[in-house]
Amino acid sequence: MKILILVGPPGSGKGTQAEFICKKFGIPQISTGDMLRAAKRAGTLDKKYLEIMDSGRLVPDEAIIELIEGRLQQPDTGGGFLLDGFPRTVPQAEALDGLLAKKGLTLNAVVQLDVPRGLLEERLVNRRTDRKTGKIYHLMYNPPPADAELEHRADDQPATVQKRQDAYEAQTAALLPYYEAKQLLRRVDGVGKPDEVTSRLEAALA
Ligand code: AMP
Repeated sequence: MKILILVGPPGSGKGTQAEFICKKFGIPQISTGDMLRAAKRAGTLDKKYLEIMDSGRLVPDEAIIELIEGRLQQPDTGGGFLLDGFPRTVPQAEALDGLLAKKGLTLNAVVQLDVPRGLLEERLVNRRTDRKTGKIYHLMYNPPPADAELEHRADDQPATVQKRQDAYEAQTAALLPYYEAKQLLRRVDGVGKPDEVTSRLEAALA
């Protein structure tokens, strides 16, 4: 039973590395960003949240907590799970503690992917997702196969990327001392090729 959180600024490689960790431990990846984008595609996302997402700000805590509470009721989370992009604020982390306590579950580790801000914008502007598989690529460093149906996220444009980095520094970075105080935080250098970062993550979780 593994319950893990991946924390890191937008573009630090959370989505890419989450895929590896989930395969290794046989647990589902829970990404609030992916859930919100799925709701957007299905046309079920409240318009006010759509505008918030597209502007690079954070969706209000209550809406996100409700989303996670519903997701954690799904049977596939019974053997553990990896949270990617949640929690993003201290109130969300406190709400998660409450949800886990109610279920008698404990968090195993919080892994922080460390990447300097100067490298992040370039990663996001070159990031593409394959609509069919959900796989994430970098146009130069991790090029997609020829048959991929590539999508560029609406919030991966330079101006929005800056706002998302600001939101990370203003709200999400406060999670690090929160989890450090609980002795759950493990820092991993996120600079390098995806498989180099994967090896470091493996060592951090061993
Ligand atoms: P991500 O794919 O994790 O970068 O999330 C994309 C966008 O969805 C973010 O910029 C926020 O607008 C919204 N979002 C995703 N997860 C959260 C969260 N835990 N709290 C608030 N907003 C979120």
